[in-house]
Amino acid sequence: MKSIIDYIVSIFKGLGTLLTGMKVTGKYAFTPWKNVTHQYPDVYPVLSDRFRGEVIMPHNANNEHKCTGCGICEINCPNGSIEIISKMITTPEGKKKKVIDQHIYHLGMCSLCNLCVKSCPSDAITMGQKFEHAIWDRKLLTKVLNQPGSKIQEGIKE
Ligand code: SF4
Ligand code: SF4
Repeated sequence: MKSIIDYIVSIFKGLGTLLTGMKVTGKYAFTPWKNVTHQYPDVYPVLSDRFRGEVIMPHNANNEHKCTGCGICEINCPNGSIEIISKMITTPEGKKKKVIDQHIYHLGMCSLCNLCVKSCPSDAITMGQKFEHAIWDRKLLTKVLNQPGSKIQEGIKE
């Protein structure tokens, strides 16, 4: 007898779950302006500020960035998506100094977790909003984030 009651209760529970789902569907069916889906690619989506498409390194108008080459982002990346290659230079004062040579970013291995951005002590990297990354050659997903000929901005603490 108990099992029949359980069976009937489970039917009502199932109906309740179904109605909950239909309530959500019905809400969006009758308020289409609230829909979260976009008619991409016919209509380009309006992305939230928090959208993460790829890691980028902003440069200013003088082709300067804020990356010191400290390697903290490389250490903190859980996927090994970042490689920092440094080089030694001689400053005008004659001192030896380590600077970034290449900040290599493997987009194809990146889970867009944002840990590198959060851990960077000089805010040198951030999340870009580009999301159309489909390509035929996966080698193109490996990028050098510091631009050719770029250098570090004055006043960035190392
Ligand atoms: S977003 Fe995450 S996975 Fe991608 S490079 Fe940064 S730390 Fe690595
Ligand atoms: S991006 Fe930031 S954390 Fe990574 S090497 Fe450059 S300064 Fe260091």
